[in-house]
Amino acid sequence: MNITTTAIEARRAALIALTQDLIRIPTLNPPGLNYRDICDYVAARLQPQGWTVQMIRAHDAPGDCEKYPRWNVICTHDAGRPGDTVHFNSHHDVVEVGHGWTRDPFGGEHVPAEDRIYGRGACDMKGGLAASIIAAETFVAMYPDHAGRVQISATADEESGGYGGVAHLAEQGHFANVQHVIIPEPLHKDRICLGHRGVWWAEIETHGRIAHGSMPFLGDCAVRHMGAVIEEMERTLYPLLAGKRTAMPVIPEGARSSTLNINSIHGGAPEPEEGNTGLPAPCVPDRCRIVIDRRFLIEEQLSEVKGEIAALMERVRAERPGLSYEIRDLFEVIPSMTDRDAPVVRTTAAAIERVLGTEAGYVVSPGTYDQKHIDRIGRLKNCIAYGPGVLDLAHQPDEWIGVGDMLDSARVMALVLADLLGSEADSGGTAA
Ligand SMILES: [Zn+2]
Repeated sequence: MNITTTAIEARRAALIALTQDLIRIPTLNPPGLNYRDICDYVAARLQPQGWTVQMIRAHDAPGDCEKYPRWNVICTHDAGRPGDTVHFNSHHDVVEVGHGWTRDPFGGEHVPAEDRIYGRGACDMKGGLAASIIAAETFVAMYPDHAGRVQISATADEESGGYGGVAHLAEQGHFANVQHVIIPEPLHKDRICLGHRGVWWAEIETHGRIAHGSMPFLGDCAVRHMGAVIEEMERTLYPLLAGKRTAMPVIPEGARSSTLNINSIHGGAPEPEEGNTGLPAPCVPDRCRIVIDRRFLIEEQLSEVKGEIAALMERVRAERPGLSYEIRDLFEVIPSMTDRDAPVVRTTAAAIERVLGTEAGYVVSPGTYDQKHIDRIGRLKNCIAYGPGVLDLAHQPDEWIGVGDMLDSARVMALVLADLLGSEADSGGTAA
């Protein structure tokens, strides 16, 4: 038996309706809205089709409280035969709406002329969740006595680090018996995302001494110290980072170097409240802070990344005897990249070729996603991101997902299932 175009195409209306329903549950993060509702929705769809359901709340996760519980759902289809477990993981949370929308962000509007569905989370990543559900349903209908297990999870908080979602599931051992993971993030239907760069966020604080602004020589200006730090970054660090190139196929091209962003800078008196018409007081600032966001490559060690900043600060201090400073770690993620020969990569690449008639592209994400937890906590390397949609649309106004793209990637996902868990040697076959 083959997973044919017709089997998926026959579910077009169901795919559209499912995507719309998911978008219409506004799972905004922050604060973590309606997580239980979306988990219940997925469970109510799959349970009557013979799937078992696990509802898991991450009680100790950041943000979990009675008002905003961090709910996750894992649905499993097991036909009772030995074999691998293939797990599709989608985060169910979406980011804030923001300004500039011309469509209802939670309307799930389908525009037939464009064959797009609009809404917050349409591409990132309710479209991917819907495509994986349709793919799994199609596969199970065609191979009711398949080998192993198919799992669909919808998880919390990816947009805020994934601690109430995939990290929690991994800590609880939910990936211990999983062999293959596909995360349907919007990386485009013909590309396989192997992993992501590393992250180090830190806060750097320079110290000075407060004094009257009319006699700054009696104090020590922390903002001037920070100015010297930033000048040293411009002079030595930015050129160094631009020169570090990776063999990781990161997209966009600009992210194939190490990068550094200064997320924020604060020094001296706090920002006045909105509507305040008073004048500021004349003080020499004794504190200045920046938050840096350093993205690093698989060729770099985190210790080396931190060492560059430590050495830079010491160079500045050598020139400025009054300077004292602190560096505080805020967040770190080690780069992750799955081998191109890993089974889930090879199977997905073959399925892309069969369905789309084009060779699969291989990419690495500039930012991180939940693969970090599956790799680090779940200790599972056989993991990729593969799903429909255009990454650039994520978090934008008028976010949309193309129905054709969802159908195509659902065909690819169904073929992957047929290849890994199909009961016949001729699984897959003539997809196109
Ligand atoms: Zn996402």
